[in-house]
Amino acid sequence: QIYLDYNATAPMRPDARHAVIEAMAVAGNPSSVHTSGRAARRVLEDARRDVARLCGTVPANVVFTGGATESNNLALKGFGPDVKVITSAAEHPSVLEAVEGSRVPVGRAGLIDLGALEDILAAGGEGRQLLSIILVNNETGVIQPLAEINDLAKKHGALIHVDAVQAAGKLPLSFDDMQIDLMSISAHKFGGPKGVGALIVNPRNHLMAEIKGGGQEKGRRAGTENVAGAAGFGAACRAVTEDAGELDRISVLRDRLETRLTERLPDLVIAGAEAPRAGHVTCIASPGIGAEKQVMAMDLAGIAVSAGSACSSGKVRQSHVLSAMGYPPEVAGSAIRVSLGWATEVSDIDAFFEAYCAFIEKQRINN
Ligand code: PMP
Repeated sequence: QIYLDYNATAPMRPDARHAVIEAMAVAGNPSSVHTSGRAARRVLEDARRDVARLCGTVPANVVFTGGATESNNLALKGFGPDVKVITSAAEHPSVLEAVEGSRVPVGRAGLIDLGALEDILAAGGEGRQLLSIILVNNETGVIQPLAEINDLAKKHGALIHVDAVQAAGKLPLSFDDMQIDLMSISAHKFGGPKGVGALIVNPRNHLMAEIKGGGQEKGRRAGTENVAGAAGFGAACRAVTEDAGELDRISVLRDRLETRLTERLPDLVIAGAEAPRAGHVTCIASPGIGAEKQVMAMDLAGIAVSAGSACSSGKVRQSHVLSAMGYPPEVAGSAIRVSLGWATEVSDIDAFFEAYCAFIEKQRINN
């Protein structure tokens, strides 16, 4: 099958797969002091160094987790229940469902309404506030203006967490330069294994562990670390860091697809096209034709794409992100996501283009 659903998960990079297999042969527990334990510790700490390098920070700030859903939950709950959480309306469900919080609206382009954000921050009163923002949206690729958002957070003394899951490996990231408090990333979105991620924690913050036990990860996440997963994570980080041309190559393919689609399909909507976007995803809607139907037709044509935010439990709902952007139901309910990555070729994009246009044109004639 032609795979164009990298934002749900990316195929594993060969380097990551090798690293996982090799690490599985290491018998020890990284917390054990004997030689085998120290060998496992070395694998884990090498991976931590690679993750830190991709994120632009020091290894001591990297907390390994079981993926970004856990990272986001730890970020939002780690300061205790008294912190007032503020998010946007266009976040991933792992943020929206984790805690109750105020939601800053986004505009039609998908960008956060900075005026509304400032009002919410200013109304916050005495207690501590934590702002949680998705850097690159998983459905549209829209990039939020983090510097401006961070300035507002700082002005009002709020902590800031960034969900950088769809930014890691897609944009240059520097946790230290961004001067933020917390950042979530996930290995499987850029060619590492599923079920391993990290929360990057600024050392000025003391986080309470959500998962308590043996005090691993400096007390921030108990449980024997997923050594093989971390090794694959580290290898994927190295591959991304070393292949500087990959991102440009992918965004050229995405742009080619969008240009050809808009030339051929007059009523096509590209969500977020007016905003700065990451180069690996396009969210397209053919109004009135259900997203689920489109995804199924593409699957029959041998192509994997997804509807809206469908990385969870196979559900197809109207995209909450497009609804938040103010699109009417016939657009939000017809949006599909085509996402590209390290193994995508021009032939994959062109096959999607042909299959998609043929399907949409047939639907239009039949109705
Ligand atoms: N945040 C964003 C923006 C995502 O796209 C995802 C993955 N769908 C997550 C968080 C959750 O990551 P994981 O699959 O590692 O739990």
